[in-house]
Amino acid sequence: MRDLLGGKGAGLAEMTRLGLPVPPGFTITTKACNAFSKSGRFPPGLLKQVDDALATLEAKAGKTLGDPSKPLLVSVRSGAKFSMPGMMDTVLNVGLNDRTVLALAELSGNERWAWDSYRRLLSMFGRIVKDIDARKFEAILERAKERTEGRKDTDLTADMLRAIVEEYKDLYRSELKEAFPQEPKDQLREAIGAVFRSWNGKRAVDYRNFNKIPHNLGTAANVQAMVFGNMGHDSGTGVAFTRNPSTGQKELYGEYLESAQGEDVVAGIRTPLKISDLKERSPAVYEQFAGAAQLLEQHFRDVQDVEFTVERGKLFMLQTRTGKRTAQAAVKIAVDMVDEGLISKEEALLRVEPIHVVQLLLPRFDEEAKRVAAKEGRYLAKGLNASPGAATGCVSFDPDEAEHLGRDEKKPVVLVRTETSPDDVHGMLYAKGILTAHGGATSHAAVVARGLGLPCVAGCEALRIDYGAGEFRVGDKVVHRGDFVSIDGTTGEVFDGPIRTIDPDFEREADLRTLLGWADDVRRLQVWANADYPRDAQRAREFGAQGVGLCRTEHMFFEKDRLPVVHEMILAAPEYRRTNAQVRSLRSDLESARDERKVELGRKISLLEPILEDLSRRYLGSLEKLGHLQREDFAGILRAMAGLPVIIRLIDPPLHEFLPNYDTLLVEVTKLHLSRGNPELLKATAVSKEDKEFLEEVEEAGQGDLARGIEALLPPKERLLAAVAATKEANPMLGLRGCRLGITYPEITEMQVRAIFEAACQLKKDGVDVHPEIMIPLVGHVHELENQRAALEAEAKKVMAREGVTVDYKFGTMIEIPRAALTADEIAKDAEFFSFGTNDLTQTTFGYSRDDAEGKFLLDYVSNKILPFNPFQTIDREGVGQLMRMCVQKGRKVRPTLEVGICGEHGGDPSSIELCDEIGLNYVSCSPYRVPVARLAAAHAKLRGTVSVVKDR
Ligand code: PEP
Ligand code: MG
Repeated sequence: MRDLLGGKGAGLAEMTRLGLPVPPGFTITTKACNAFSKSGRFPPGLLKQVDDALATLEAKAGKTLGDPSKPLLVSVRSGAKFSMPGMMDTVLNVGLNDRTVLALAELSGNERWAWDSYRRLLSMFGRIVKDIDARKFEAILERAKERTEGRKDTDLTADMLRAIVEEYKDLYRSELKEAFPQEPKDQLREAIGAVFRSWNGKRAVDYRNFNKIPHNLGTAANVQAMVFGNMGHDSGTGVAFTRNPSTGQKELYGEYLESAQGEDVVAGIRTPLKISDLKERSPAVYEQFAGAAQLLEQHFRDVQDVEFTVERGKLFMLQTRTGKRTAQAAVKIAVDMVDEGLISKEEALLRVEPIHVVQLLLPRFDEEAKRVAAKEGRYLAKGLNASPGAATGCVSFDPDEAEHLGRDEKKPVVLVRTETSPDDVHGMLYAKGILTAHGGATSHAAVVARGLGLPCVAGCEALRIDYGAGEFRVGDKVVHRGDFVSIDGTTGEVFDGPIRTIDPDFEREADLRTLLGWADDVRRLQVWANADYPRDAQRAREFGAQGVGLCRTEHMFFEKDRLPVVHEMILAAPEYRRTNAQVRSLRSDLESARDERKVELGRKISLLEPILEDLSRRYLGSLEKLGHLQREDFAGILRAMAGLPVIIRLIDPPLHEFLPNYDTLLVEVTKLHLSRGNPELLKATAVSKEDKEFLEEVEEAGQGDLARGIEALLPPKERLLAAVAATKEANPMLGLRGCRLGITYPEITEMQVRAIFEAACQLKKDGVDVHPEIMIPLVGHVHELENQRAALEAEAKKVMAREGVTVDYKFGTMIEIPRAALTADEIAKDAEFFSFGTNDLTQTTFGYSRDDAEGKFLLDYVSNKILPFNPFQTIDREGVGQLMRMCVQKGRKVRPTLEVGICGEHGGDPSSIELCDEIGLNYVSCSPYRVPVARLAAAHAKLRGTVSVVKDR
C-alpha cells in the first residue's frame, strides 16, 4: 500500500479504516506522479477521477469547494513511500478566493483568521506552484510587521492582512502577468501538479541520493479537507509519539499547542504544553487521543509518531508514521514489544540497526550539548569517522606527554598527530581520542583506535598542525596544546572546547544483552575477535566473542621496554645469517680439504667464530628474550579464551617499522658530523622540540660535555643508520614482510611457534583447555606455505615431545594476495584454515596503497561516485567479494572441513558481514568493541529475506 499511496496516504487510509476521526480526503497515487513526471501532463482520466473523489469528499465534509455559503478548504500534501521530511512541497488552504474569504470570515466570526489563511495560500501557491521568489512575499510581510508595535505575525490586524493580500495579488500580476487563480478547481489542479513536480526538485533528488532511495518511486498527493487548530482555546494542534523516542519508556510523549496550526509547533513561536497537560485541560479529547494512539500502535505493531488537530473541541488525526528513535529507545522498545507479545524476536532483531548497538556501547555526546556548541560557533572541521564514539580532552601533540597526562595526571587527552605510527601507541593507550590530519579508515591511527575502542577522527585535512609551535589551525582559528577539543568519531566532527559525554556500560545494558542473546540463537556465523593482549581477549569474551580470529603478535614487539631488544635482533639478523652461512660452508669445505688449504680454512673459521658468537648472542639471544616475553603474552590470551580457538598470526610488518625513522637518523648523523670540532653549532641550531631533545641526548652521552657526546654518539648512530638503510624498501607493503620474513629469517617465526607451544603445553598441564591456531600471513604461493609449515610444525612437535603434552592445534594461512585466492585449491592442501585479511586483499586487488589511497584520492573517488563507497570500510562485492567466494569454493573442494573466516577491518562492518554469511564463512573476527554489533549483524544476515519489514530510511 505504501508503494502506491506513500507513507502519509497509507497512514491516512489505515486510520480511516480503523474508524479514527480523519478529515475526509483522497490520495492520488505515486503511479500518477510517475506518469506526470514522464509526460509533464496528468495521465488521461485522472482529472475526472479527482472530480469524482472531490465530490465524495464534499459530501462527507458537508462543504463545497468554492461555495460561499459553506466553503470547503483542502490541503494538498506530498507523501512518498519513504519519509523525506521537508524535501517536497505542500499547499494549504486551497479553495480560498476573494469571495470565500469573506464567507469564511463571516462563518467563523474570525475575520483576522480568514484573511491570514488567504494570505498564507497566496504566498504558498506563489512560491510552490508559480516559482515566485519567496523573499518577495517575505519582504511585503516584513514591511507590514515593521508598522506594528510588536513586529510579530500575531500583531497584524485583519485590515493589515487584507492589505497584504492585495499586495500579494499585485506581486502576482507583476511577476506572472496574470492574476491569482480565483477558481478553486484550478488551484487544486495546479497544486497537485506542483506536488508531483517537487518529487524531482533539487532538494528531493539530493536527499534520495544521500539516503539511497530510488528515484523511480514517485510521490503520492493527498487531498484532504482542512481542519483548523487556530480557532480559539478549544482548538489546538499537537504531535505525539506512542512511546518516549529518547528512552523507549511506554508513555505518550509529545506536545500540544493551544489555538495554533501545525507549522506553529515546528516554528517554536510559543512554548507548547506537554501532551500530559492536555489531560487536565481537555480530558475527553485527551482520552480519545490516547485511545487512538494505542490503537495505532497495536495496529502497526510499532511506535507511531502521530499528528493531530483539535478544531473546536473535536479531534482530528492528521498523520501517523513509524516513530524515529534513539539507539537506547530502539533496543528497549524492541525487547518490550516482544514481552508484550506484539512482535516476534526476529522482528525485534530487525528493528534494531547495527549502528544503534555501536552508539549504545560508546561514550557519546549529549546531542543537545553538541547543538549548543555548533550554535556557539565551536564547530571546527570534519574528517573521516574512523572509529566511533565521542571524546573530549586537552590537545596533546606528543605521545610521551599524552601518556604522562593520561596515566599520571589522569587528565583527558586528545592526541593530535599528522598521522600516527607504532611509536605513538604508548600515548594512544592513555588518550581519550585520536585526531589525525592524514590517513584513512585503515590507517594506523584508525586500526589501533578501533582495537582500543577509542574514538578517532582521521584524515581531517583541514587541520594545519605545527608541532614546533604546539598548535593547529583550521582556517583562522588556532587551537593550542592544552586547549580542549571534542571529537565525534561516529560522525567525523571536530569541535573546539569540551562537550558533555554520556558513558556506556555493557553489563548494565540489560535490554541489549537480551536482544543479542536472541541474535545468538538465530545467527549461523560465529563472531570472533581480533585481540593482541589478554585484556582485549577478556573484554572480547565478555562481549560474546567465540574465539580470537587474529592476534597480531608484532604489536607485542612495539611495547616500549621491548623495542630495544627488537632493534638488536633486527640489526644483527642479516649479518648473523650471512656469517653463519659462511662458517657453515667453510666447515663443509674443511671436511674434504688438505694441507695448506685445510690450515687456511681453519684460520678463516677461527677468525669468524668469535664474530658469529657475538652475532648469535645479539640475534638469537634477543630472540630468546622475546620468546620469553611472547610466551607470557600467548599464555595470557590462551587462558582468557580457554575452551575457544585462538588464531595467532606470526610476524607480518616490514622490519623497518620496528626501527627508528631513517630520515631522523640521517639528520642526526649529519648534525653530528657538522658539529665535530664545533659543538656550539649543535646548540645554535636547536630550534624545534626534536632538535632540543637530540641536544639533550648528546649532552647525556658526553656526561655534560657536548664534544665528548658527539664522539660517543657518532659511531653507533652511523651503524644504526646503515642498518636502517639496509632495511629500506621502495614499496615496503609489497616488500620483505609477511611469510617472506619467516622464510628469510626462520629463527624469528620458529621462536614465535616455540613460545606459542610452550605456553599451550604449560596451560594444558595446568588443566586449561587451549586451542591455538598458527597463521601465516601474506602467502601468495603454496610453496611459501609448505616451507613455513615444514619448519614450524617440526618446531611445534619438538616442544610437545619435550613437554610430553599434545596440544590440539591448527595450521593455516591468511588470504591477502589475489594469487592465494586464485590458487586456493593448491593452498588448501597445506592449510587447515583460511582467514581473509581483507585489508591487504583490498589493497592488492585494487592495487591501492592503503596508507596513501585514503589520504590522497580515495575519499574524492567516493564523493565523485567513481567508487560507491570506501572499499577499505565495506568489502567490494564485485571484485574482492568475488575472489573470496571463489576462494572458499576452491578451498572447500579440496578440504571440505576447511575453516574460513575474515579478520580484516571489514569483519565488523554489517554489510560486509552479510557477504561473509552469504559465501559461507564460519566466522567473522573484529575488534572487541564491535563484537556486539557483529552478533546483531550476523543475525540480520541470516534473517534478511525471511522476515519482511517496511522501514523508513
Ligand atoms: C589484513 O590485511 O586484513 C589484516 C588483518 O592484516 P593487517 O591489517 O595486519 O595487515
Ligand atoms: Mg594483512
